[in-house]
Amino acid sequence: MSSAACIFCKIIKGDIPSFKLFESDKVFAFLDIQPLSRGHALVIPKFHGEKLTDIPDEDLLEILPVAKKIAKASGATDFNILQNNGRIAHQVVDHVHFHMIPKPNEKEGMS
Ligand code: 5GP
Ligand code: ZN
Repeated sequence: MSSAACIFCKIIKGDIPSFKLFESDKVFAFLDIQPLSRGHALVIPKFHGEKLTDIPDEDLLEILPVAKKIAKASGATDFNILQNNGRIAHQVVDHVHFHMIPKPNEKEGMS
């Protein structure tokens, strides 16, 4: 299921360009366009749903292993996995996404 108006569905389809990190039948991952640190990635289900509660378990189950792979590949020893649901919780894009945000040593620059 996808939504014609959704920017992340357009990214999955390739209608909007992205720096792709991973793709499988159910999961897509790409770099965030406004990174909070180098390597800030977004891991999303291909199934379009606004909130975590809208996504089937079978799709959700494949997300964390991908976030783990990307965290390892980033080389970061410290990182945050973050997932916002709803405006009050700071969700801006209404397609479920997990942020993987490396937290580099302050000496390395962006933190
Ligand atoms: P939220 O606040 O909804 O949890 O985070 C949405 C994230 O999506 C933000 O970090 C924002 O930079 C990212 N984002 C929004 N539009 C695009 C886009 O067109 N391409 C990419 N790669 N990231 C986007
Ligand atoms: Zn979508």
